[in-house]
Amino acid sequence: MKFKLLRIVLTLLLMTAFCLSAIPAYANKITIVTTLTDLADLARAIGGDLVEVHSLATGVEDTHGVPMKPSFVPVMNRADLLILVGLDCEHAFLPALMEASKNPRIQKGNPGYVDCSKGVVPRDVPKSTDHSEGDVHPYGNPHYMLDPVLAKTALSNIFNAMATVAPQYIAEFTSNRDAYLATLNAKIAQWETKAKVLKGVKFVSYHEHWPYFAERFGMNYFGTIELKPGIDPTARHIEELTAAMKAQHVTIVVREPQFPEKTPKRIAEQTGATLVTLPIMPGGVPNTETYIKMMDYIVNTMVAAVQAGK
Ligand SMILES: [Zn+2]
Repeated sequence: MKFKLLRIVLTLLLMTAFCLSAIPAYANKITIVTTLTDLADLARAIGGDLVEVHSLATGVEDTHGVPMKPSFVPVMNRADLLILVGLDCEHAFLPALMEASKNPRIQKGNPGYVDCSKGVVPRDVPKSTDHSEGDVHPYGNPHYMLDPVLAKTALSNIFNAMATVAPQYIAEFTSNRDAYLATLNAKIAQWETKAKVLKGVKFVSYHEHWPYFAERFGMNYFGTIELKPGIDPTARHIEELTAAMKAQHVTIVVREPQFPEKTPKRIAEQTGATLVTLPIMPGGVPNTETYIKMMDYIVNTMVAAVQAGK
């Protein structure tokens, strides 16, 4: 009888120990909300099991207009960090969500507000503020994540924010970040080697997503189908663009998955260029779930388009 009682007590003690070890690990997880999937991937790379990451976008949306869902507000309410692209990329949807979240931790100026453009020198900063150069790039082009070297600036901003809100995990974050950086640096070297055939190749895209990518890999970014960032093309603009593309031998038309295929397809047919669909964040097309897989896909697709056009 005594022995049986001892066994029950021991079992209870073991169960309590199990529960105690399980609860704090979960309760201490840092809750992170990112606007886009590329930033979510970097946050997971640094945070591993210590973080719970939610991306507002799934990957197929327009970076300037992620459709709002009711589920966004509660998750933003309990977030420790809000990680964003910055340069007002998310201006159309984020400020309203931040207000609705009623979460002081993630408001601008507090440690939970993480602007990943800090340290990035923006390209194509409008000379005037009258919106004549487009409505969605008011502080310059925000699509710097398509340059994998600039993605390291975002990685560093995310790391600093995570280390500030959870200094108890700094050793884990540092080792995860260093491992990711080693992989990313090896990949960048690989992409630069592959992209040698892209040097000087002229291309157009629907939206102005690609100036940083073109600069990194030496491509010639000829123009956009949109009249200005966020402004639909006019018939006259398409006519002029098509004529210029023929005269200047532009060989690639990039269509981003959030825009309809019709106009890019027609322009490619009229000019003899190759039409490619390229994601602008992970998940935009199949097999691009991570940032590295997405950059692999973009570089490989561009290289294949150039080789097909030869
Ligand atoms: Zn844009």
